[in-house]
Amino acid sequence: MKILIINAGSSSLKYQLIDMQDESVVAKGLVERIGIEGSNLTHKYAGKQFKLETPIKDHTEAMNIVLKALTDKEHGVIADISEIGAVGHRVLHGGMKFTASCVIDQACMDAIEECIPLGPLHNPANLQGIRACQAVMPDVPMVAVFDTAFHQTMPPKAYLYGVPLEYYRKYSIRRYGFHGTSHRFIAGRVNEILDKPGSKVVICHLGNGSSLSAVVDGKCVDTSMGLTPLEGVLMGTRSGSLDPAVVECIANNEHLTTSEVLTILNKKSGLIGLSEYSSDMRDVRAKAEAGDEKCKTTLDVWAYGIRKTIGAYAAAMGGIDALVFTAGIGENDAAGRAEITEGLEFLGIKLDAEKNATAREETEISAPDSRVRVFVIPTNEELAIARDTLALVSK
Ligand code: ADP
Repeated sequence: MKILIINAGSSSLKYQLIDMQDESVVAKGLVERIGIEGSNLTHKYAGKQFKLETPIKDHTEAMNIVLKALTDKEHGVIADISEIGAVGHRVLHGGMKFTASCVIDQACMDAIEECIPLGPLHNPANLQGIRACQAVMPDVPMVAVFDTAFHQTMPPKAYLYGVPLEYYRKYSIRRYGFHGTSHRFIAGRVNEILDKPGSKVVICHLGNGSSLSAVVDGKCVDTSMGLTPLEGVLMGTRSGSLDPAVVECIANNEHLTTSEVLTILNKKSGLIGLSEYSSDMRDVRAKAEAGDEKCKTTLDVWAYGIRKTIGAYAAAMGGIDALVFTAGIGENDAAGRAEITEGLEFLGIKLDAEKNATAREETEISAPDSRVRVFVIPTNEELAIARDTLALVSK
């Protein structure tokens, strides 16, 4: 069966067509600037690329263009839409309603809608993507896979904030966590490797957005992102955790509203805010290596925060068997992995410098005498969504 994976944003739509027979990517692409001037499609297939610039007024039109590209005589990869057996949708926020992926029916759509106050930017866009698919391929079964679902096993001591409990009751304010599809994919893979009941694992998903999770026996017990993806470690443009009073202090001094300050914390902070240079780790690292003091300090702050979180999770779990690095930075930034784990020998974490420096694909990078096994494991959120979709539609 071929499964189409859709990740719809407010003005963009990413897609991937996966052949489940060998889990290979048949084609993938991106529609950008939906409803804005300059709309375009980038379609990649068989090592080739096809670009199309054309007005695209809404998500339904975008889906039509995607299906046309997939079935096109020249650039297409399938003869007919009927070859698409199911669609898997990435949905940001499942609130407390979704602990797992679900087949999309009216009740599922209603529940995603009810979670809009928790994901005000993403959930409406995700719903637009679902509705667009329903419009252009009404008979194809669809599945929603939530970024928050994996973290729903956290106990109250990990998800409650120390604010008046009525806010949790009235507004569902609590820690939810994100990147759940990636954390679950990695947790599943590392547990296959470890083959140890009750395994205690810390997963570092380090990309433009970054989050850590503590996973016992395959179940999430804590994670660093919170009510929104803003909490946790330093990211490309997000500040990560800080004293909430900082918000008022910036607002008063800069004469800004709360939401303007939050935009700064989400979009102009983190690596780019501290380095005053770039949100991209490769840029910041290159400039730090060239001697730039601001970039060096930025990397120190970044690594220190992640190291502290690993220590905290080891304490929370009462031990640690494995540490995993994944996503753009986690998979590729050997220097970063070395900086993060520096000084963690007391916890039993010791890298093999050579293995760390040369790690490509899935690699164990711990030293032979490291008590904790350390891995680089590439994440694949689209494949995780496709596997869930196949499992649910096959039922
Ligand atoms: P997203 O969260 O957007 O999916 P990615 O997981 O693709 O992001 O991660 C993007 C980050 O990975 C960027 O900061 C980029 O600089 C970093 N990255 C990619 N390759 C390397 C590399 N070789 N060395 C250091 N950082 C890298």
